[in-house]
Amino acid sequence: MADKKVVITPDDFTPVEYDPQYILMVNKLRKYFPIKGGMVSRTVGYVKAVDGITFNIRRGTTMGLVGESGCGKTTVGRTILRLSGEKTGGQVLFNGQEVYDLSPKEMRPLRTKMQIIFQDPFSSLSPRLPVGEIIGEAVREHNLVPANEFDDYIDKIMDNCGLQPFHKDRYPHEFSGGQRQRICIARALALNPEFVVCDEPVSALDVSIQAQIINLLKDLQEQYKLTYLFISHDLSVVEHISDSVGVMYLGSLVEYGDTADIFRNPLHPYTKALFSAIPVPDPTVKMDRIVLEGSIPSPANPPAGCKFHTRCKYCMERCKVEAPEQKEIEPGHYVVCHLFDE
Ligand code: SF4
Repeated sequence: MADKKVVITPDDFTPVEYDPQYILMVNKLRKYFPIKGGMVSRTVGYVKAVDGITFNIRRGTTMGLVGESGCGKTTVGRTILRLSGEKTGGQVLFNGQEVYDLSPKEMRPLRTKMQIIFQDPFSSLSPRLPVGEIIGEAVREHNLVPANEFDDYIDKIMDNCGLQPFHKDRYPHEFSGGQRQRICIARALALNPEFVVCDEPVSALDVSIQAQIINLLKDLQEQYKLTYLFISHDLSVVEHISDSVGVMYLGSLVEYGDTADIFRNPLHPYTKALFSAIPVPDPTVKMDRIVLEGSIPSPANPPAGCKFHTRCKYCMERCKVEAPEQKEIEPGHYVVCHLFDE
């Protein structure tokens, strides 16, 4: 039997024009990872981790990205920052510049402008370097401040992140989880970024420490005019910190809009189910939880038509064959579902 050739469908999108109110414009972004198999390790398929997502982030605001584990949230963040090799398709415009058009040399200054804070502060810090060196290493590498101002600069960044100057000579294992996350934030902040991907920055921390880190991120945002992409599965945290929210399912964005609109009026059946699980701090309120049937399908073999149709109680015949398009239901509130077709 002849080998079946696995092909990626070519890009099919209208390029977006740069709009200066947005620091980041993501248009039909795709990131597929090849699946290798057979005797000669050829590509037998693709994991469609990010499959044609579109959103914009306004300068100085926070966009929350939510969804079940494995839905592709982290891959979105890493693909925007160009940390996962080449994209498969679509556009990533940072300040109007297509990130993937830049050479490695041109990418260098952009690297300082786009930073990331990881979920696990311990594994993202070198155990062999003292904290002052961890925070200052890239500052020196990029020549961001003159040598005679270096120490004062690092002290100021540490102070802004709630760290003491004597912490500089200590090593990561000497700190608590919350302090380690402060070190990671200081390391990102030291490069004077404009945009930071916060990849589940508080999910490994105790609840009381989570609040401190969230408040620190909010204070720093105001002080340094930062823009965040805040990736989390904790909807309460996302509601608290975000100006806009995107809901992901199986590599696609199913709903996206201002936080108030999304939480007040979730429209997509998946968003409704996800949000129905948010605990209400009132014992007299009866939770009306929507339990989804079945498990999340494989991103290597997503269902045809609407990817959510295998778990959706509103599924119609056309949902099984025809993928819905993103539609604007109210100003700035987008949903991807046939229920909202005229
Ligand atoms: Fe459900 Fe159809 Fe909407 Fe998909 S398009 S969420 S299957 S109603």
